[in-house]
Formats: sequence, structure tokens, C-alpha cells
Amino acid sequence: MMVEIPDSHPRKKSLLSRQKIVEGSLEGLLADSAMIAHGRGEAFDYLLGERTTESARLAVREAASRLSSAISPVISVNGNTVLLAGEGALRLAALLGCPIEVNLYYRTPERVSGLLSLLEEQRAKILEEPVPSGLEGDWRESVTNVPLLGGSADFRIEGLEGPRSHCTEEGIGRADSILVPLEDGDRCEALVNLGKEVIVIDLNPLSRSSRMATVTIVDEVSRAFDGMLAELISNPDCVPSEWDNANAISGSLDDITEFLREKKG
Ligand code: ATP
Ligand code: MG
Repeated sequence: MMVEIPDSHPRKKSLLSRQKIVEGSLEGLLADSAMIAHGRGEAFDYLLGERTTESARLAVREAASRLSSAISPVISVNGNTVLLAGEGALRLAALLGCPIEVNLYYRTPERVSGLLSLLEEQRAKILEEPVPSGLEGDWRESVTNVPLLGGSADFRIEGLEGPRSHCTEEGIGRADSILVPLEDGDRCEALVNLGKEVIVIDLNPLSRSSRMATVTIVDEVSRAFDGMLAELISNPDCVPSEWDNANAISGSLDDITEFLREKKG
């Protein structure tokens, strides 16, 4: 049951996110561990000051430019991502002209089809909204045409065993650049080993995914999607740089240290 959270509540945004995760769990859209993953993310967001830091902003820009320069980009989403940022993922995919693939670590046909249905609902909602300002071309057609993949897996990620290796050829299988929010470290490593460019969104700068990725955005998933969309609208010709990901992660750790120093006064 959705509980009304007053606008004045200082933690309204965080409570709304929690509510989405709880509802998603009750509807059977999430694996049992999803709440634990969310809690870990929340803890790191607190330590980052619940904002997009300057180093995250640079990573957002790099990710946007790499995705728009890729030949076959894909956005891979899990349950938490669809619940918290499905609309942001759809808007970004529409702008990039790329598919979204539901790809779950604990894969069941019911959860995959439930998340695909939720993405369709989110798509319908976006189609009713005004076109984001600064966008040219037929936005509604681009939104309508975003392929939603994952329903029938016909490909395997080499180097992984069991259901967590299943994916589609049209999406992850043939992608040269993959955006994988909240990915598990093991799968991130397998994708990198296949020679793919892997862009991770993860609030934990110390996770294996963060350390394995080509570009790591240490930011909350919905903020990161909104940031990439804004970046591509304001700077559509952005080009990838020589990106030093270890240095970028170190920047995020400095952001935490700096925030804690401010808090200590
Ligand atoms: P790894 O396998 O990469 O070492 P892990 O096992 O610690 O990571 P997982 O459960 O595999 O963690 O993945 C969840 C990750 O997603 C965590 O690192 C968590 O910080 C991050 N996370 C959770 N919620 C969010 C969110 N809303 N936005 C961004 N990141 C999040
Ligand atoms: Mg893991």
C-alpha cells in the first residue's frame, strides 16, 4: 500500500525510492536480494551527500559521448533500475536510438515479462508528456520505436554459467558499448573480457563492477540517466576522451572524504 509522504518531509525522495522497491518486491518484480542492494546504494549515496558530484558529472559526460559514438549501444536493465529509473532509461534510449534489454542476474520468465510490461507502461506515460525541451526531430516516434528486449534469450555471455549468462543477440550479444546500471562484478568482468565497452552506474566506488568497468558513473541511477540525457541535449556532438577510470574512481573516493570532512566541521 502506498503511504502518502508529505512534501515537507526532508527525506521524501529517498522514501519514495524505498516505496518503489518495496512495491516492486510485493509485485514479484524483484529478487529477494534487491532490497539489500538498494540499501547498500543508499548508504553510499548518504556518504556522497545525495548529489551528483563533480567527478560523477565528468563520468556522465564521458558515458554520454561514448554511447552516442558507439555503433551498437544497448542499455541493460535489472529490476531496481526499471523501478527507479525506467523512464530515464527509455528517454535515453530514444535519444540514442538504441534498445533496452531486461537482463537479470536471478532470471525468471515471470520477472522478465513483468519488467517488460512495466517498461511499456512507462513508455505510454512518456508519450503523454511534453517533449523534453531542446530536442529536435520526432521525439514520440523515437520513444515508440525503442526495442524492449530480453523476453526470449537466444545468446549467452561467454565466461558465465547458468541463467545469469542468458541474453539476446540483438541487444547485449552484438553490442559494442553497454550501459549496465547496478551490475554484478562477475558479469561486468565477463562483458569486459568479451572486448565490449562497459559503462557502469554504481554508487559504490569500491564494488568490483565499478573497478572493472570502462567508465564508472558513481551516482544514483535516476540522477545518472537524467544527467546523460541533459548532456546529450546540450552537447550532442560530444566526443569520447582518453578516460582514466581508476583516476575517476579515486575522484569519487575523494568526494566522500571531502563530504565527511565538511560534516565533521
Ligand atoms: P560487485 O559484485 O560489483 O562487487 P556487490 O556484490 O557489492 O557489487 P551487487 O548487489 O552485485 O553489489 O550490486 C548492487 C550495486 O548497486 C551496489 O554496489 C550498490 O551500491 C549499487 N546500487 C544500489 N542501488 C543503487 C542506485 N539506486 N543507484 C546506483 N547504484 C545503486
Ligand atoms: Mg555482486
